[in-house]
Amino acid sequence: MNALPERLAALIWPRRCPFCGKLLGADAVAGCHCRNCLPEVERLSHDPPRLPATEHEFYAVSGAASAFYYADTVRYAILMCKGHGNPWYARELADLMAVRVFGAQAAPAAAGRPAYTAPGELKPYTLIVPVPPRRPGTGTMPRLLAKRLSRILDIPVAYPLYTTRKMQPQKNLDLNARLRNTRGAYACRRGTDLSGMRVLLVDDIITTGATVSACALALLQGGAVSVFAVSVAAKEDLPPNKRLPKQGQTQEKQSK
Ligand SMILES: [Zn+2]
Repeated sequence: MNALPERLAALIWPRRCPFCGKLLGADAVAGCHCRNCLPEVERLSHDPPRLPATEHEFYAVSGAASAFYYADTVRYAILMCKGHGNPWYARELADLMAVRVFGAQAAPAAAGRPAYTAPGELKPYTLIVPVPPRRPGTGTMPRLLAKRLSRILDIPVAYPLYTTRKMQPQKNLDLNARLRNTRGAYACRRGTDLSGMRVLLVDDIITTGATVSACALALLQGGAVSVFAVSVAAKEDLPPNKRLPKQGQTQEKQSK
């Protein structure tokens, strides 16, 4: 299904490591990043992917999971995808989500796509929905991630959500302001019927959880039975064993 466009896309936009931009060869790890970046991928992995409710302010979602912590190289990859004209990073990052969050089998080669071999486990989800852009023409990353995940997990994708009003960028807001900013800011398009749907809601970053929660509420109001949120990365404090040594400490070690 759609194998030709996929192979064509791989020819036109050869796969690159989303963390360093290096062209991927046959030795790509999981078919989607280079060997050099493996230590960083391991270090920044969110293990287990499920996000602790204590670190976020979730409502309306049944849970949430992320492949990575939003820090260092992962942050760079997301920024490159979002604002710096490299939307193809979404393909590699979605593949990593499929492998890390859902346990898909890694793609055998760089041009491939991870295979999800145990569809029974994904039975709870019947529809993939991306978080909609805050302003028209921006924020296509969740959509690209959702499309790719839909292909890998073999779950249909739909775009029932829209933003009902202007929101401030969440970036500079504290928790309460974020909750206020997003509450009621999303709704389902007229005529949407999500009766019986168990939705997998896709975003690039989960910070407080305010955005995915507001989207989930709208999906529930549209008839969905449950909403589980997934993202490439979660903004949480890095556990101490995942932090990079401070520059001074490294130098100290080196001078010993
Ligand atoms: Zn790399």
